Amino acid sequence: MLANYGKKTDEKWQKKWDDTKLYSVDFNRPGDKLYLLEMFSYPSGYTLHMGHWWNYSLADSWGRMKTMQGFNVFHPMGFDAFGLPAENFAIKTGVHPKDSTEGNIATMERQLREIGCTYDWKHELSTCDPDYYKWTQWLFLKLYENGLAYQKEAPVNWCPTCMTVLANEQVVDGECERCGHEIVHKKMKQWFFKITAYAEELLNRLPSIDWPEKTKRIQEN
Ligand SMILES: [Zn+2]
Repeated sequence: MLANYGKKTDEKWQKKWDDTKLYSVDFNRPGDKLYLLEMFSYPSGYTLHMGHWWNYSLADSWGRMKTMQGFNVFHPMGFDAFGLPAENFAIKTGVHPKDSTEGNIATMERQLREIGCTYDWKHELSTCDPDYYKWTQWLFLKLYENGLAYQKEAPVNWCPTCMTVLANEQVVDGECERCGHEIVHKKMKQWFFKITAYAEELLNRLPSIDWPEKTKRIQEN
């Protein structure tokens, strides 16, 4: 009974927020503008998990405070939906990455709406959308044309049963986190960005950035 009442209340107010475009930004509104951007969600599982909201609730609360202080807050959300997690999910389930990714995004978006976050969904994007990744491809070509993207052989974590490369976080005690098979370190031809070309410039300007000392040391190293 109480749960039903809660659901009804949620639905009533969510509809009201949608109808009044409460979280939709008007860029022409006078006053101080605030662009609140967090890292995008990875739609790698079936649904949103607590880690997502644990991460996003802080910025959401902060954005509300800035709104109450009179700022014109633009708070968009997107999905970092390309690459290893989508590939691994496809291998595991046999579902095409396009179908699984779009399905996962729809579920996560619905859940984020139900939580009542302040995202402006009009400006949502997904990195696996051709309208988005044409720009990352363009950027890559510019790097390549200028000798800043190159290929070379380098060691990777390889799982022989999953037939895929694994990120360091997916290797637990030398084993694949999904199937438990022992990881093989083998050399593969890969793409690299020549960030060392900018090492001195980055180091020299690091002190002028307002970051915690610990983060600066990580960058230096
Ligand atoms: Zn494996």
